Amino acid sequence: MIVRCATSNPGKLREFRLAGAEDGNFAVEPIANLQDIPPPEETGDTFEFNAVEKALYYAAHTGDWMFAEDSGLEVEALDGSPGVYSARFAGPDADDRANNSLLLEKMNGVADRRAQFVCLIALAREGKLVRTFRGEVKGEIVNEARGRQGFGYDPLFYYAPFGCTFGEVEAGEKMKVSHRACALRALFEFLRTNGHVAK
Ligand code: IMP
Repeated sequence: MIVRCATSNPGKLREFRLAGAEDGNFAVEPIANLQDIPPPEETGDTFEFNAVEKALYYAAHTGDWMFAEDSGLEVEALDGSPGVYSARFAGPDADDRANNSLLLEKMNGVADRRAQFVCLIALAREGKLVRTFRGEVKGEIVNEARGRQGFGYDPLFYYAPFGCTFGEVEAGEKMKVSHRACALRALFEFLRTNGHVAK
């Protein structure tokens, strides 16, 4: 079964496709002509609000099962920041490098390094919200970037069970434990238990 996703972020898309392939029952593919649809504003201050807002916006462009996601990094010592502003932490046009530099700067000398990645997926069909799924993974912010895998804050996110950052592991390894994988697996399970695909 094909589930459409509303993301043009290549890092996220790669991980969604991997999770679909790993499950075996689902193929995750972007909505057709996604690049021709102007992206909506993200106006909310929660991951859930933004994911639902995006899902309802993009669901108008496809009748298929589809989902949108909002995700980001919450750092304990920064009161949950950058949170929903993760992509724009260093400004509206900031790239990963600028965001990571700003995070390292803010964490300079901070003893409490705890952080978590959060992913909210909103599932919709025929223009209507079906439900949301949340995934989290806990780690720590390192003092300097490590590794070139992944995207976003991955090189700064130390995951103790791996003994390294998400930037130092292949996407397949990260997807065993990531916030995105947890949320997506819950979505797959929902479709299975509701009879939308063979068990
Ligand atoms: P969004 O497109 O508004 O959901 O932005 C999410 C932002 O959060 C990304 O641009 C990254 O900076 C960060 N982020 C979300 N998930 C991950 C991840 O798995 N690894 C690293 N950074 C992430």
